[in-house]
Amino acid sequence: MQNRSPSKRLEPQSMDYRSVLEEIHAAVLPVVGRGRVADYIPELSRVPPDRFGMAVVTVRGEVYTVGDALTTFSIQSISKLFSLVMALQAEGDAVWDRVGREPSGTPFNSLVQLEHESGKPRNPFINAGALVITDILCTRFAVPENALAEFMQKLSGNQAVHYDRRVARSERTHADRNAAMAHFMKSFGNLRNSVELVLDAYCRHCAIEMNCVDLARAVSFLANHGRIPSSGEMVLGASLSKRLNAVMLTCGTYDAAGDFAFRVGLPAKSGVGGGIVAVMPNECGICVWSPSLDESGNSHAGTLALELLTTLTGRSIF
Ligand code: GLU
Repeated sequence: MQNRSPSKRLEPQSMDYRSVLEEIHAAVLPVVGRGRVADYIPELSRVPPDRFGMAVVTVRGEVYTVGDALTTFSIQSISKLFSLVMALQAEGDAVWDRVGREPSGTPFNSLVQLEHESGKPRNPFINAGALVITDILCTRFAVPENALAEFMQKLSGNQAVHYDRRVARSERTHADRNAAMAHFMKSFGNLRNSVELVLDAYCRHCAIEMNCVDLARAVSFLANHGRIPSSGEMVLGASLSKRLNAVMLTCGTYDAAGDFAFRVGLPAKSGVGGGIVAVMPNECGICVWSPSLDESGNSHAGTLALELLTTLTGRSIF
């Protein structure tokens, strides 16, 4: 793999993502499978670790793929990004009265800060924060899991997007820690619906299945000032879209967001299913999937692939 010098960068219209993705694929193959597949539920522990797929969907509508880009996987915490978008659509900046926007410095499922901070989670991408966001959706929608699945269908253009009932049931059976957080927040008045209702919806959100192309397309509005590139429809206003990108950059990749920003330089959101979505402003939505995770819970090969993408193209937000 060679490092292209900035003086040789191609203009946006002429970027050959096909060859960039092939170069990335070849470079990451030796590390695909390195790390550990999430094993807190059997459905995730059975996913073969040696998979790798990546997709780029540009704001001009071009689609580039490599490897297992059309294989569906469990989006897990990537759902937190889209449930937050729905909550921002519904309540705007009022969302921030109930959840912060600072990196937590603790694991995604930690309870420790909640007591000091009176039940207000640090950010919407840790589990406690996502439970509050899910509570907002439970108030706004009769069937919040269907509302999110339908939203994902619209953003991805794929009507087949759905949540896997078996994964959702398994998540729910193993949700003791999330239940503890939800009860704790309810005791501080930061949950309006029943803990059971919120947990059911949250677990179903995590169990949505999508592929890299679906997700790269779904996130592309965030590269386009909040508008769906193909239709021009506004999902979020430009200001909320900018802010959401900022929260992704600072909080989107678990407790490794600083290192991820250092290495990759793009707003991103990861999940323990091994997926990572990322945004290259004015250019494209990106999704990479490889199930083996590093110690922070981010896809090991996926993080490397995104690092290579910004290195090879010379493009990032910096
Ligand atoms: N379903 C997982 C949980 O709530 C999501 C984990 C993740 O992707 O970060 O523990």
